[in-house]
Amino acid sequence: MDEINRRQMLGTLGGLAVAGGWIGLDTSETVAAPPEDEEPGKPKEYILPALPYDYDALEPHIDAKTMMLHHDKHHAGYVKGLNETLAELAIVSKSGSADVGKVRSLTDELAFNGSGHVLHTVFWSNMAKNGGGAPSGTLARFIDRDFGDLMRMKAQLSAAAKKVQGSGWGVLAWEPLSGRMLVFGAEKHQNWTMWGSVPLLVLDVWEHAYYLKYQSDRGGYVNAFWNVVNWDNVAERLEAARKLTA
Ligand code: MN
Repeated sequence: MDEINRRQMLGTLGGLAVAGGWIGLDTSETVAAPPEDEEPGKPKEYILPALPYDYDALEPHIDAKTMMLHHDKHHAGYVKGLNETLAELAIVSKSGSADVGKVRSLTDELAFNGSGHVLHTVFWSNMAKNGGGAPSGTLARFIDRDFGDLMRMKAQLSAAAKKVQGSGWGVLAWEPLSGRMLVFGAEKHQNWTMWGSVPLLVLDVWEHAYYLKYQSDRGGYVNAFWNVVNWDNVAERLEAARKLTA
């Protein structure tokens, strides 16, 4: 590529990078292309993170047996599914044949297991022994700005979680395009979100999350969840997510 074309291309990329700032691309890094002989590093492995507390830490609100099964079996299953899906996708990619059915089913699996892994990872860190109470500082101010007050935000997130059809999540997210917090009620793990939104506080309302203790009383489980929320973790996530806003 001659120098003029190279500059034109970088100029175009620079423009895209500025326009793409809303998804958190650092313009300076994007424009400054790496040396052509530099190999990109390997992506990180997906691994099951350890629970940041004992299985019984969230008692009596969430029981130890549920936590053990939920983390060790269900979350582990999503990580396994994610890694297996990626291994199969690598084979499909290398084969050079775009088998429509296979690509379709594998991308479905990728979205399902990948989103399941992300949300469970956020979920465990969103809770703590002796959690609950109310947030303070910047997080509290943003909640007041976007929902009116904490009570209203809790009511909206609780309603979204309780009303998910079938299996899903209540999600409080930071939406970087506008710079505001939004509540979603996600079905399964991956449906009914807005691209680019960053989960801050999530509540799993799959039956595996509560049925041993609460049986069909999803509402009772959702109400109890507020007693174990780790607001410090939510505040840290908000600070990190706000850096993505253009
Ligand atoms: Mn779950």
